[in-house]
Amino acid sequence: MENLEMADVGLNDRCLLPSCSSTSSGSLKTFKIQAFKQLLECAVERGDDETLDKLQTIFNSHGEQATVVLHKTCYCSYTSKEHVKKFVLKRKAESVSSD
Ligand SMILES: [Zn+2]
Repeated sequence: MENLEMADVGLNDRCLLPSCSSTSSGSLKTFKIQAFKQLLECAVERGDDETLDKLQTIFNSHGEQATVVLHKTCYCSYTSKEHVKKFVLKRKAESVSSD
């Protein structure tokens, strides 16, 4: 298992993910570039423009030093292959029915 986390973050930092809710447990962590790229990939797969935009803005100014602040639970559910698959299928179903 790679070490994706750095030290705990400050109190003013917020979780980046829109799917984050007040029920998300655990402390916020700063995730490094490996995790950052994983998130970026998942944002593309999910068609999550909002998150993609935020990530790209961070990447544009920090490059390979880019980090992102998230709950570990949020990171895990956002990048879970099962969750991404379900999300994409749901989105397809919705776009078909709204046509
Ligand atoms: Zn969160």
